[in-house]
Amino acid sequence: MTTPTAPAAEAPTWPTAKCNDDGCSADIIWARTNAGKAMPVDAVPVDNGNVLLRPWPGRDEPEAHVVNMPERFDAPRYTSHFVTCPAAASFRRPRRAVRRSV
Ligand SMILES: [Zn+2]
Repeated sequence: MTTPTAPAAEAPTWPTAKCNDDGCSADIIWARTNAGKAMPVDAVPVDNGNVLLRPWPGRDEPEAHVVNMPERFDAPRYTSHFVTCPAAASFRRPRRAVRRSV
């Protein structure tokens, strides 16, 4: 019997991690912007996300592309975890996270 070796994946899967902030244990993907900054994104793509993840040769982490018109891209769209994390204040300067209305 033959075993299929390469199941067709619709989208690449990235290593996930847990946000370890107090009160948040969301699954996140650590990506890196082309400026070299680490950027956590929610592990689950969403329709109104504005971050595209692309394979980054030689690295485990994907490259994050923030795009202005995400609906133009036929690819899973992610959201910066800075936006959705209830503990986002600990990521950057104290400031209320602005939640997108759904
Ligand atoms: Zn979080």
